[in-house]
Amino acid sequence: LFVDQPLGQGQPLALTREQSNYLFAVMRLAVGAEVAVFNGRDGEWRARVTQANKKNGALACEEQTAPQVTPPDLWLFFAPIKKARTDFIVEKAAEMGARRIVPVQTDFTNSERIRQDRLQAHAVEAAEQCGTTFVPEVTDLQPLSAVLDHWPDGRRLMFCDEARVGETAGLPPREGAAGPWAILIGPEGGFSEGERTRLGALDFAHTVALGPRILRADTAAVAAMTLWQMQLGD
Ligand code: SAM
Repeated sequence: LFVDQPLGQGQPLALTREQSNYLFAVMRLAVGAEVAVFNGRDGEWRARVTQANKKNGALACEEQTAPQVTPPDLWLFFAPIKKARTDFIVEKAAEMGARRIVPVQTDFTNSERIRQDRLQAHAVEAAEQCGTTFVPEVTDLQPLSAVLDHWPDGRRLMFCDEARVGETAGLPPREGAAGPWAILIGPEGGFSEGERTRLGALDFAHTVALGPRILRADTAAVAAMTLWQMQLGD
């Protein structure tokens, strides 16, 4: 269970209405039951139910049961698409161990706003589901041009370009490809020629193909993370 509160021995934990309903109405836990909790920073802890109220329950933290894990430093930049498919991308990126998920506004991105809080909640659910103590940060929507203007030193970019469909992947070999990485996936309409020209000229960007067919953006995000993990991940 994800709790956005400090964890430590004896620390009382107040549960939200939603969490209380889930634990005490759906799961029917009683006072004294054990619950595994994490906050994305302090590893996993064993906590015990002290108040089994369906609206405002409470736990007490007892003992750390697993250390905090941090996945390899991979960021995913993607252009948001339809709601359910955007949710899917965030969920899968969290499962695949992305450290940061950044929705970007590109020339052909249709949505001008996203619900960052909803997407962050999807990342929390994905972490709960796959039993990790790490929750990636989902940022607000950022213009791709600003992202590229303020690119962090040393980070490499896997630019997934549908125009390269059918070519060999184009990832550099593991030796000499050290450093943190990021992946960039475009929207349904793909990248504009202007974006392609700019990205193609950046020394930190590697243009990558994802096989013999054009993939939907949500499929492309999963394929790109898998490719990165197989070839460059640790
Ligand atoms: N409308 C575009 C077209 O018909 O060429 C397709 C865009 S595709 C649905 C969405 C994004 O997925 C692309 O911008 C790219 O980042 C990625 N993508 C999909 N298939 C790819 C491939 N075979 N190679 C590289 N990237 C791909």
